[in-house]
Amino acid sequence: MELKTLSEPTELESTLSHLSRATLPKVLQVQQGIVRATHEFMFKKGLTQLMPLMLSPITDPLNHGVVDASIGYAGRQWSLTKSMIFHKQLALLNPDLDSLYIVSPNVRLEFADRADTGRHLFEFTQIDFEFKGKDRFYVMEFMEELVNFVFARLNKELPALLLELRGELLPQYEKWPVYRTEKLEAALGPDYERIKSEESTEPFWLMNHRREFYDKEDPKRPGTYLNYDAVWPAGFGEGLSGAERENEYHQIRKRMAEVGTNEETFKHYLRVAKEQGLPKTAGGGFGVERMTRFICRLKDVDEATAFSRKPFAKALF
Ligand code: ASP
Ligand code: MG
Repeated sequence: MELKTLSEPTELESTLSHLSRATLPKVLQVQQGIVRATHEFMFKKGLTQLMPLMLSPITDPLNHGVVDASIGYAGRQWSLTKSMIFHKQLALLNPDLDSLYIVSPNVRLEFADRADTGRHLFEFTQIDFEFKGKDRFYVMEFMEELVNFVFARLNKELPALLLELRGELLPQYEKWPVYRTEKLEAALGPDYERIKSEESTEPFWLMNHRREFYDKEDPKRPGTYLNYDAVWPAGFGEGLSGAERENEYHQIRKRMAEVGTNEETFKHYLRVAKEQGLPKTAGGGFGVERMTRFICRLKDVDEATAFSRKPFAKALF
């Protein structure tokens, strides 16, 4: 008897079948609706839109390792953008600019251990925003209002699609609960974020992450940070990261030393902080594909892409 060999689909076959999924156009319509409603919300709230940058001598160092993505050009190294955090702070040096946002493509060449989290892409879009002279309370309320605005708009514009993709229309949320990482960890163990996300029915804030040097240390509680992640419920996990920022020269250098940042890389940024003074700002950024995933109840964030960007994807285009 002849045995049939079961062959793996070729890379070309899997690339093309990812692209021709029947649900893709529907998911993309929802995603377009998110971006369209967000632009309108930002405009209503008076934020100025900056165009994204993809190359810069400095970019977000992130608080986890990724494969380096930088290229030599014109006598220096330029990194592909991991987030526009420093450009958000620097742009707000302009005295007539009080708040801004960017639909910002980010490249984070994740290692293979993040391939199957359901939440990671090695290239994605975040909507990044920053306010001068505002604090965490302002930003958190802003995001809560944004989500309700976007959800209401989608319910109005795309009700049939939402019913088909998620089985019901989108909710409106009251104020989101706020938790602290150290308290949740004490109660739920090291996997607290996933557990809390799975048992929640509404988005929540998680404050005080050990993150990059640019997130402000709480002057009242040294060793803790005035940052916040927004976490989607039902196990969808992190959807936004943000913080009040360090803007004072000595404090930035102290934080850089603590997390092991190379000051040389940031020497011009440090000079601005020292000589010019960085403005006091707060902000955040949410992942567009992650919001799409939550709304459409997708198993993996990569289902929101036409061309797979799952870490280590077998993607040909
Ligand atoms: N956009 C984030 C922030 O504003 C940084 C990040 O991308 O994680 O803090
Ligand atoms: Mg984050």
